[in-house]
Amino acid sequence: MKTVYTFGGESDYSDPRQGDKTVTGGKGANLAEMASIGLPVPPGFTITTEESVRYLQDGQDFSDELKAEVGKALAHIEATVGKKLGDEADPLLVSVRSGARVSMPGMMDTVLNLGLNDRTVEGLAATSGDERFAWDSYRRFIQMYSDVVLGLDHGLFEEALEIAKEDRGFYADTDMEAGDWKELVAEYKSIAEGELGHPFPQDVTEQLWGAIRAVFDSWDSDRAKVYRRLNDIPGDWGTAVNVQAMVFGNMGDTSATGVAFTRDPATGERAYYGEWLVNAQGEDVVAGIRTPQYLTKAAREAAGAKQPSMEEAMPGAYGELARVFDLLENHYRDMQDIEFTVQDGTLWMLQTRTGKRTAKAALKMAVDMVDEGLIDEKTAILRVDPMALDQLLHPTLDPDAQRDVLTTGLPASPGAASGKIVLDADTAETWAGRGEKVILVRVETSPEDIHGMHAAQGILTARGGMTSHAAVVARGMGRCCVSGASAVSIDLKARTLRIGNRDLKEGDLLTLDGGNGQVMAGEVATIEPELAGDFGILMEWADQHRRMKVRTNAETPDDCRMARQFGAEGIGLCRTEHMFFDAARISAVRQMILAEDEKGRRAALAKLLPEQRADFKGIFEVMAGLPCTIRLLDPPLHEFLPHGDAEFEELANATGYGVDHLKRRAGELHEFNPMLGHRGCRLGITYPEIYEMQARAIFEAACEVASESGESVVPEIMIPLVATKRELELLKALVDRVAQEVFADTGTSVDYLVGTMIELPRAALMAGEIAEEASFFSFGTNDLTQTTLGVSRDDAGRFLNAYVDKGIFARDPFVSLDIDGVGQLVSLAAERGRATRPDIKLGICGEHGGDPASIRFCEQTGLDYVSASPYRVPIARLAAAQAAL
Ligand code: PEP
Ligand code: MG
Repeated sequence: MKTVYTFGGESDYSDPRQGDKTVTGGKGANLAEMASIGLPVPPGFTITTEESVRYLQDGQDFSDELKAEVGKALAHIEATVGKKLGDEADPLLVSVRSGARVSMPGMMDTVLNLGLNDRTVEGLAATSGDERFAWDSYRRFIQMYSDVVLGLDHGLFEEALEIAKEDRGFYADTDMEAGDWKELVAEYKSIAEGELGHPFPQDVTEQLWGAIRAVFDSWDSDRAKVYRRLNDIPGDWGTAVNVQAMVFGNMGDTSATGVAFTRDPATGERAYYGEWLVNAQGEDVVAGIRTPQYLTKAAREAAGAKQPSMEEAMPGAYGELARVFDLLENHYRDMQDIEFTVQDGTLWMLQTRTGKRTAKAALKMAVDMVDEGLIDEKTAILRVDPMALDQLLHPTLDPDAQRDVLTTGLPASPGAASGKIVLDADTAETWAGRGEKVILVRVETSPEDIHGMHAAQGILTARGGMTSHAAVVARGMGRCCVSGASAVSIDLKARTLRIGNRDLKEGDLLTLDGGNGQVMAGEVATIEPELAGDFGILMEWADQHRRMKVRTNAETPDDCRMARQFGAEGIGLCRTEHMFFDAARISAVRQMILAEDEKGRRAALAKLLPEQRADFKGIFEVMAGLPCTIRLLDPPLHEFLPHGDAEFEELANATGYGVDHLKRRAGELHEFNPMLGHRGCRLGITYPEIYEMQARAIFEAACEVASESGESVVPEIMIPLVATKRELELLKALVDRVAQEVFADTGTSVDYLVGTMIELPRAALMAGEIAEEASFFSFGTNDLTQTTLGVSRDDAGRFLNAYVDKGIFARDPFVSLDIDGVGQLVSLAAERGRATRPDIKLGICGEHGGDPASIRFCEQTGLDYVSASPYRVPIARLAAAQAAL
C-alpha cells in the first residue's frame, strides 16, 4: 500500500485511498480533491496516517520505503515548481503540516519556510528581488523550527526580537529592514547554538526529516492527548503529514493572505465572509498583530471601515476567489472554510474544510441548500447536530457582553439566566412572587426544592452531576442550571456564599450560562430565542423520516403544553411524586406517611384524592387523546419528611402529634441506602392504599375528561422498580380492581394499559416472564444504569469526570447510554418481552431518551418511542429521524 501521495502538477488521483480522510487526513484528502478538480493548489505530497502509526509503534524509526517514497514525491514538487530544495541559486521552500482525520486545531505541529539556510537565503533574496522578505522568512523559519522541531523555548527568540526592536527604537515588526532581520538571524543562530551545543541545522534534507519527525511525534504530545480525550478521538488514528511548496503572501502589495467562509458561519446568510491582509503570511491574520480587512465591499461598507476590501483592492484575485468558492460549494455541497494566499496577483488555495457554524446558521444553510438544489431533505436532516438545537430553544447570553466569570461548573441544563442570589426554595418563591428574578443557589437540591426551582430563573448547585436531581428537574422545566460547581460554598446561617475567592451574599446579582457551565458576577444581557421558519421546516422534514414516536417526561399542564408546542406525541413519563411537594399538599402527604396504621393513612390519602384527580384531569385535557404514561409513586417515603426543627414544629401544629413522636417516626423511616430501599412498587406492595388512591384519581379523571370532551383517554399506568413478575401481578390486580370500581361508580369506562418500568437488571433478565403481566415496558435507564454499574446517580459527580478523563467511560453513562453494558440489558429485555407478547409497547423514559447517541441505539433496538423532557423533544425528533435514515 502506498505510503505517500502527491497532489498538484501531474499527479494521478486514481487511487481512492487518497481521497479517504482516514488514510490521508482531512487536510491531505481535501488538498488532493481541490487539485483534482482543477483549483490552484501549490504542489505537494501527503504521508499517510498509517505511516505515523507505524513510526510510533516501531520505536520512532522511518522505514526505508518511506524514505524512498518521500524522495520521489519531493522530486515531483521540484519538477512542478521548477526549483530544488537546497538550491543555492533558486531554492524551493516547503511547509510541513500535520493533518489528522478530524481537525484538531492548534494541537499539532507546523513548520513553514523550510529549506532556508545561510546560502539559500541569498538565492531567495536574488530570485525574489526582495532582500527584506528573504531574511524575514529565514528568521521566521529559525524561530519556528527551533520551537517545534528542536524543542527550544520560543520565548528566547521573542525576547531577542523585542530587544532588537527596542534598540532600534522600533514599535512594529514592519519597521524592521533587511539589514535588521539579517542581524537578528545571526542572533537567533547563536541562541540556538548556545542551547543545542551545535549549530542550527544547515542541511535542508535533515531539516525536512526533522520536521516530519516532529509532526509524527506531536500526535502523542500531552496537549494532543488531552484534546483527544475531551473530543473522543481514538489514540490509534495517527496524523498525516503534508509537505507542500510554499507560496508567499508577503511579497509586497500584490500579495496577500486570508481565511474565508463560503457563507456566513454565524447567521448562515449566503454571503462570502472572511478576512485578508495585504503583504502578510498566514499566521499574521490569526495572530491579531495587524487588523485584517474585509473581503467584500458590502461587508466593508456595512462595518463603516476605511481600508479597502479585497473585492476593491485586488479585483482580479477576488474574482478568481469567488469562482473558487462556487466551485467548492458545488463540489462539496456544504459550506467551506478555506485558507488562501495571493502571490504576486495569483490566487493559491491552501486548505478547505467543512466550516464550523452556529446552530442558527446550520439550520438556515440546510434549508437554503435544499431550496438551491444542492442537497436533498435527507442530507439536510443529517446536517444539523440535534444537540445544537438546544442553543435555539433557550435564551442565550449576548455574545458581546462582558463576563466576570467566578467559576465553571457542569452545564447541566442549557440557557442563560441572571437574577438575585437566593439560598433556599421558600425565599426563591417569595422573592419571585414579588416580581424579582432570582437564581437559586444550593449545595444540592432535593424534591422539596421544586417550587423554588420553578420560581427561579436558574439553579446553581455545588454538588451533583449531569443527572443529579437539580439537573434532571431543571432540564425538565427548561430552567438553566449549572451543577457540581465545587468552588461554591454556602453559609446558610449568615446568608452568604463564597465562589472561588469572591464573597457574595443573598440578594447579589449572579448570571449562569447553562451552555458552558460558567457562573458570573452581576447581570449579563441575554437574547431571547427566535424560532425562525427554518426550524419549523427542518422539523417537519425530520418528522416525515422518523419511525419512532417522541413523547415527553412531564407532570404539569404547563410543561405538557410546552412539550406539545415542541412536538411531543404523548407523555412517556409522568412522575407523580412531584405532585406531592406542592406546599398545600405536603402536609397531607406527611400525615399519610407518619400515620401509625392503615386507617390513619387512608384518612390522609382521602384528602389527597381530589387534588390528584385534578392534576390528572389537567394533564389529560392538555394531551387531548394522546397517550399518557403515568407512573405510580416511586421515591422512598423519607424524602417527603420534614428537615430541621422548624419544619417538625410546623407539622406538629398541623397534625396534633408531638414533635418527639414525629421525630421518632422519622427515625423509623430512616434508610441507609434509600435508592435500594423502600421505594417503587415496594411501597405499593406494603401500602397498597397509596397506589389505590392514585389509580382511583387517574381513572376518575380519565372518565370525567372522556365524557366531557368526547375524546378517547387511554391512561397507561406504570409500576416502578419491578423486579419480579409477582410484584406486577399483585399491583396490576389492584389497578384492575380500582378501575372496575370507578367504572361502576361513574357509569363510564375508558381503555387503559398497565405496564412496568424496566429499571433493574433482574427485570431486564426476567422480561419474558414479566411481559405476561405487562402491556408495555418503559426503560428507566437512569436507575438501570445506576443499578447495573453499581454507581449512585446522585453521587457520581464526584468521580465520573475522572473516569471520563481516564477513558474508562467514553462519556458520562448517565448522559449517554452505556450501550455495551446497560444497552445489552435493554436489547435482551426488548427481545424477551416481544417473544412473550409480540405487540408489547416499548419505550425509554430515562434521561437517555433525549440523547442522540442513545436514541440511535433505541432505533436499532426497535423501540416504539423515546421520551424526553419538553425542551429536548425537538432534539429527539431530529435525532430519531437521523437514526432512521
Ligand atoms: C429512570 O430510572 O430512568 C426513570 C426514568 O425514573 P426516575 O428518574 O424517576 O428514577
Ligand atoms: Mg427510576
